[in-house]
Amino acid sequence: MGDIEADVVIIGCGPAGIFTALELTQKSDLRIVMVDKGPDIEKRICFTRMGRECAGCSPCAMLCGWGGAGAFSDGKLTLSADVGGWLENYVGREELLRLIDYIDKVYLAFGAPTTVFGTNTDVIEELQRRAQLAGLKLIPVKIRHLGTEKCADVIKAMRDYLSSRVRILTERQATRVLVDGSVVTGVELAGGIKVRAKYVVLAPGRSGAEWLKKITKELNLKAYNNPVDIGVRVEVPAPVMEPLTRYLYEPKLIYYSKCFDDQVRTFCFNPYGEVITEFYEDVMTVNGHSFLNKKTKNTNFAILVSTSFTEPFKEPIAYGKYIARLANLLSGGIIVQRLGDLEEGRRSTPERIKRNIVEPTLKSATPGDLSFVLPYRYLANILEMLQAMDKLTPGVYSRHTLLYGVEVKFYSSRLELTKELETKVSNLYAIGDGAGITRGLIQASASGVVVARSILQREGFSLELTSENLPKNVPSNL
Ligand SMILES: Cc1cc2nc3c(=O)[nH]c(=O)nc-3n(C[C@H](O)[C@H](O)[C@H](O)COP(=O)(O)OP(=O)(O)OC[C@H]3O[C@@H](n4cnc5c(N)ncnc54)[C@H](O)[C@@H]3O)c2cc1C
Repeated sequence: MGDIEADVVIIGCGPAGIFTALELTQKSDLRIVMVDKGPDIEKRICFTRMGRECAGCSPCAMLCGWGGAGAFSDGKLTLSADVGGWLENYVGREELLRLIDYIDKVYLAFGAPTTVFGTNTDVIEELQRRAQLAGLKLIPVKIRHLGTEKCADVIKAMRDYLSSRVRILTERQATRVLVDGSVVTGVELAGGIKVRAKYVVLAPGRSGAEWLKKITKELNLKAYNNPVDIGVRVEVPAPVMEPLTRYLYEPKLIYYSKCFDDQVRTFCFNPYGEVITEFYEDVMTVNGHSFLNKKTKNTNFAILVSTSFTEPFKEPIAYGKYIARLANLLSGGIIVQRLGDLEEGRRSTPERIKRNIVEPTLKSATPGDLSFVLPYRYLANILEMLQAMDKLTPGVYSRHTLLYGVEVKFYSSRLELTKELETKVSNLYAIGDGAGITRGLIQASASGVVVARSILQREGFSLELTSENLPKNVPSNL
């Protein structure tokens, strides 16, 4: 393959990159090239999705390829400006709310289910009151749940729509960003192929964060550290969480611990779902997902403690990896422990897990002792939060509750960007989770639209969506 000429080249085919392309193709005839180091969606085979042991693919089949980390995500579209990233700091709250509404309509147009959780305000107000009595803050968020299998279908429909309008290069890694003075001129791919373009959009996700860090250094761009979130994944019988999940699907609970005054929060609820493993480069961490149609007997969610390190320590990702690696070292991967065993200061054994009332959905987890892995501060915060939650949803603080460790959420360093998400190199944009400005499907997608609109404006195209440029092969209910 020889060098390629384009108007816009997008690195990363996750939600951020896809929504950049969708917006550009609907409103212009610009020549667009999309590049991803992973394979096309049909070729992405991830064993953990099938309940089998992680094969350690490189690049990770769960995170890389068409759809990025979004393709096999749980597909919870969080329709709130309060969670999922920091885009509000760039575009303002009003504009973010407008973008969320717009993004949601695009997902609907490509086949997302119509049901939205979190709309019954009377029940939610009562739950908020009860949460307050338990010392918790309940942030109500509306959620449209695609489920893992539907999410992949929607992302594939977007690929089918874009494939005739955009040149898509999968299994091609971007290596360098080409710059002339202070203006971007394109990118170089592995093998030395150059894609020359007036605009370059970097959307490499968390799996491309290290690469972006390298580019940041090469181009002398400024970046700020984000916090690192460390904790455990909790698994309980699904009926225990029903009073919350029936109405909210993703109850966002916040607690300030008595012992350290740290903020502790719940994250990523998966009602009737499965606990799964995830790789962050060479370390294995735990996560969860749920299907729209396949149900287990359990609900899982994460309890995370956020830490923002101050001077002189500047390596939050290295710290999180260190703790995850310790769990990997002791167990060969993920540790599972009964809450009762943790309280009594003993490890869980295969026999104790076998006779436990809650049956683990992650079969490959090794029974062990999380107190050898998590610093006291994290453990104390997590136990306090579970005790508070038990007042709201009795049964959470049971000796049969399973704790999997460790769950770590690494957020990429936040690049210094303008309101249009442009770096100090002209026409070089950075968006999505990789740029450290988002941490969820909706805001990652929205960041793509922000950049596309900036490019459209610079190129003199109208931002109005007219009936002529609506997607033709999808239901046009935008
Ligand atoms: C298991 C799991 C469940 C999740 N569930 C939810 C959920 O329910 N709701 C929610 O809102 N969010 C969820 N998320 C988070 C969500 O998936 C991400 O926030 C979102 O996908 C980020 O989009 P992105 O486009 O910024 O990056 P990504 O989706 O990570 O895509 C980045 C792409 O860039 C490619 N890339 C990286 N570097 C290069 C390079 N050098 N050259 C070429 N290509 C490169 C990667 O291969 C990847 O395909 C989940 C994530 C995971 C892992």
